[in-house]
Formats: sequence, structure tokens, C-alpha cells
Amino acid sequence: MNKICSKCKKKKKVTDFRSCKGYKNDIYSICKECEYEYQQNDERKEYRKRWVKNNPSKIKKNHKKWREGNPEKIRENERKWRKENPEKNSVKCKNYKARKKGAEGSHTLKEWLDKKKEYNHRCVYCGIHEDALKKKYKDKRWHKLTEDHVIPLSKSGSNYISNILPACISCNDKKSNKICQKIILK
Ligand SMILES: [Zn+2]
Ligand SMILES: [Zn+2]
Repeated sequence: MNKICSKCKKKKKVTDFRSCKGYKNDIYSICKECEYEYQQNDERKEYRKRWVKNNPSKIKKNHKKWREGNPEKIRENERKWRKENPEKNSVKCKNYKARKKGAEGSHTLKEWLDKKKEYNHRCVYCGIHEDALKKKYKDKRWHKLTEDHVIPLSKSGSNYISNILPACISCNDKKSNKICQKIILK
């Protein structure tokens, strides 16, 4: 099926138009190409910026509506993101868990990576190097140093990076909820 764009007057495939409720056959009247050009217009950009600023609740509502209408797409996007950003995801999960436990604070992936660097990528309790974890454990999940909360979250320790040290899975497990004092030097 073809359609004539009301702007450039060219005959185009319907797939070259955005679907849009309320328009004839639910297809927007101008083609994607023309629409893109229109959006790039400076005046239009300014207008959008203003609109976004003045309508936060509308945007929130639209976003919510879109999320509710596209659960599969969201799941797919999240899966993709997790796969492409495993470390970011792991920090995100930990922040989320800590928040759920009522802990104060959060930290970023960069802060965690800097922290590992600060300790030369070694477990602060037994000194094992992160690279050696690959040889020690078959399970891929244990190939990275884990975040150990110096004062456990259960003892109202915070989730700020200042309360976190790198530890191997074995030491982190052994320590569990105890406050450990044995810390090797950097
Ligand atoms: Zn056009
Ligand atoms: Zn260790």
C-alpha cells in the first residue's frame, strides 16, 4: 500500500510513515523523513524542550502508558541492557537490595571499580587476586571480587562506597554478618 506525503508530496510506502492514532487509517500524514526534518528545526526543538519542561506529569503518564502497553519490549530491552552491562547491572542490583534492606546511600560502578583498583584487585581478607578466582572457581559468578560491607547492612552499615571493600566470595561468605577487623594492607 502506498500513501502520498502531505509535505513532500511524494508517493511512499506506508511503512515510511509512523502509525498514529486519530489520523486516516491510523497513519501520520507526513512521511518519517519529513517528520524528522521537521523535528530538527530549531524552533521546533525549542518548543519541544519547553513542552517537556512544562508538562512533567503528562510525560510521566505517557511513559507509564507506554510501559504498560509494551511489557515484552521492556523486558527485551532490559535483558539486552543486562547482557551488555553485566557489571553495571550487578551494582544496580546491589544498590536495589541495599535500599530494600533500608540501608542509607548508594554507589556507582566507577566508585566500585576505583575501589578494586585501590586494593590492587585483591581480596582484603585472604589477598587472592581477582585473576586467580577464574582458576579457583568453575562457577563464573565467582570470578569477580564481591562487594563486602565492612559494617554489614544488617548492623545498619551504609551502602556508600566508604563502607565497601573488595572480597572474594569465600571470605565474603565466611564473614557474612560479622564485622571483620582483619584487613590486609593495600
Ligand atoms: Zn514527505
Ligand atoms: Zn578472600
